[in-house]
Amino acid sequence: MFVSRDSERIATRAEASILHADLDSFYASVEQRDDPRLRGRPVIVGGGVVLAASYEAKAFGVRTPMNGRLARRLCPQAIVVPPRMAAYAEASRKVFEVFRDTTPVVEGISIDEAFLDVRGLRRIAGEPEMIARRLREQVRTEVGLPISVGIARTKFLAKVASAVAKPDGLRLVPAGGELEFLHPLPVERLWGVGEVTARTLHEHGITKVGQLAELGESPLRALLGPGAARHLYALAWARDPRRVETGRRRRSIGAQRALGVRHREPDEIEAYLHGLIDRLGRRLRAADRLSRTVVLRLRFADFARATRSHTLAEATDHTPTLLGAARRLLADAMPLIDDRGLTLIGLSLTNLADADPFQLSLPFEERAENTLDTTLDRLRERFGSAAVTRAALLGRGEGLSVPLLPD
Ligand SMILES: [Mg+2]
Repeated sequence: MFVSRDSERIATRAEASILHADLDSFYASVEQRDDPRLRGRPVIVGGGVVLAASYEAKAFGVRTPMNGRLARRLCPQAIVVPPRMAAYAEASRKVFEVFRDTTPVVEGISIDEAFLDVRGLRRIAGEPEMIARRLREQVRTEVGLPISVGIARTKFLAKVASAVAKPDGLRLVPAGGELEFLHPLPVERLWGVGEVTARTLHEHGITKVGQLAELGESPLRALLGPGAARHLYALAWARDPRRVETGRRRRSIGAQRALGVRHREPDEIEAYLHGLIDRLGRRLRAADRLSRTVVLRLRFADFARATRSHTLAEATDHTPTLLGAARRLLADAMPLIDDRGLTLIGLSLTNLADADPFQLSLPFEERAENTLDTTLDRLRERFGSAAVTRAALLGRGEGLSVPLLPD
């Protein structure tokens, strides 16, 4: 895509008025709020895997997600508590009430973070910084939780600013002060710089965002490839044209298949899984969304249910990647299925993001890479969903389709 010099300015708005609000160590903070004995102490939520760690635990190097045994080795004095999802959902609901109380333009990113656009609220609510201060205060008094807020002219910078502000802080990146804020930061602060990319950059003496920006895009391309180079170079110059999206979008898409009580062989169950992921991948691409988390839902002969989920390193609409995650979840659940008998299998794709051309998060690959998926989608569009099916599904049908809301 050709980008003219003129459109390379940092943002279209004149004032830093995008807020990124992010609860600090969310689950652990809820636990510390509800049990005074946990306050000021290292707290780990989860058992086998660390779901959240309080700042006191993070000081010992505990991270999420991390193997629970390793976490306890790093921080033997940590108090480990089981997760209470209902309490977190309730806290999240209250925090989002405060968000929507602040501005009508709220884009929820996950259970504990959102972008808020406060442009145009100056006359009724004051400066963005004042609005942010009030929001933090309100979450503290009404929900009892610490929240960090970043303010900037772009989403990307607002998100970096909230991360820099943590824990329990506020950071404003004033209009015109973007590069001054961004360039001294370590390259790891940029979206898309994981361990591997960071290592490559470090090996070439690039540790700060400013060095990456000065290097220029073509030398960067030689190091990281064209997609990553374009993405990181744009971020290093703080270019990010995305708006705060208010439209109420679905948080997940799902499909399920009732199997009845008859015994099913593992390869048959896996074939149903293929059918479900094919269907969901198609809907995901039709809605121009990407998913990061695959959730497997199971119902057993005794009507008990179980869910298993896997979060990918990056959001994708690539069916084989999603299928890989789903198959691993199924393989892990197989002993349970053998034991209890399976009567329903379901899959959902959650953690959805937009797949628009300005998408600045990973994956870097061109969307044309998904050629097989695109071809299958087109055939189905033209000839109906029964026209193409994977070999494994022949003769089985795709199962009953449940009516669904548009994605
Ligand atoms: Mg958070």
